[in-house]
Amino acid sequence: MLPPITSEAGDNYTGDEFVLWNKIYHQDQTPYYYIGFKQYVKYLYQRLKLTINQTFNEEKTRVIRKNRLKKIFRAIPVKFESFHYITDHVKIYYGISNIQIYYKENLIYSWRENCPSVSINVVIKKMLNPFENRKTRYIADSIMVTPLGRGNGFNGRSSNFIIQYANRVIWVDPMAEPLLALKRIKLHWNKITDYFISHIHEDHIEGLSAILKLALLRNHRINIITTQKIFNKLNQIFSFLFPDFLHLVNHINITPESPLPYHQGYLSIRFNHHVLKSGTLGLKVKYKNNCFALSGDTYYSEEFEKKYPDHPAFSPDWYREAHLVFHEAEFFNKHTSHTFYTELKKLQEKVKAPILTYHNSANRFLLPAVKEYKTYIIKKEKLYCS
Ligand SMILES: [Zn+2]
Repeated sequence: MLPPITSEAGDNYTGDEFVLWNKIYHQDQTPYYYIGFKQYVKYLYQRLKLTINQTFNEEKTRVIRKNRLKKIFRAIPVKFESFHYITDHVKIYYGISNIQIYYKENLIYSWRENCPSVSINVVIKKMLNPFENRKTRYIADSIMVTPLGRGNGFNGRSSNFIIQYANRVIWVDPMAEPLLALKRIKLHWNKITDYFISHIHEDHIEGLSAILKLALLRNHRINIITTQKIFNKLNQIFSFLFPDFLHLVNHINITPESPLPYHQGYLSIRFNHHVLKSGTLGLKVKYKNNCFALSGDTYYSEEFEKKYPDHPAFSPDWYREAHLVFHEAEFFNKHTSHTFYTELKKLQEKVKAPILTYHNSANRFLLPAVKEYKTYIIKKEKLYCS
């Protein structure tokens, strides 16, 4: 493990969560070995523990802790910042100036040779410069939603959305390499007014380190809208990479008890049924009688709707005011923490607004899906698409 490095492209400590989820889904018990200075190994372990060790109980009624990480994450902490690690076939030379890995006497990795020769800061500035003074495209009195990804941590671009209303440009769960996504929609970073974080699974927060790095370099605080609990976890995850985390962000606290009046509109959240004790949020945005609803990661089933009639995560009524609903869906496996599409079909029968699916890699044909880089516009309580 290398010392932590952050840039406007991201960081080198994000990415292992879905490598490990992949192992868990394939019931692969062979461990990965994490070798490095003990502080770095410990940080990654603690971070992964927050998500990997939580799951549903058998009846899917509760989130429980399950110690899975211990088996598949084998920590090999070393005391000094420079060391040699030698097994039969692998040799690692780890020093202040370089790290080299040999496999069967062949050099397969050298840190110094893999370092980029250009400054990422300069590349990013150049990339976004043409859009710095470009006016943001916004249709007055509307809510506009642009999906930048509709996948998950395994496939495609992870699910993330730009929501615009009044003078707000809210980025929900910013994706990896976020500035490439902005370039594609010709939006400058400084036009984003807020970030909404729905939960701390890695495919929903992987863009944050690049954004925090920009905030640090350009001396600009970002607004993060989420609950206190999720914000505390973000602090725990990112303050190792950004010791100034609390100075780089303004936390805008939101609770499910009452809608948050926010710049002439309202934001409301609910607690979903998903596998995290720190919570997973669904989001509704209301502005000038228009309403957009985003399910967030959640397990919905008709059986649970009947069993728990007062729980908003299972209530079709939560979508009553919406003119457009984006709902996550799983098409292949009934036994996940996501909504199986046959259940979602039943939900659609009870919800007036059209439901478009996301958070999957396929299958566009089983249910209508959101389209990446299209903009959905709700104006005068009607839905348009551009
Ligand atoms: Zn999730």
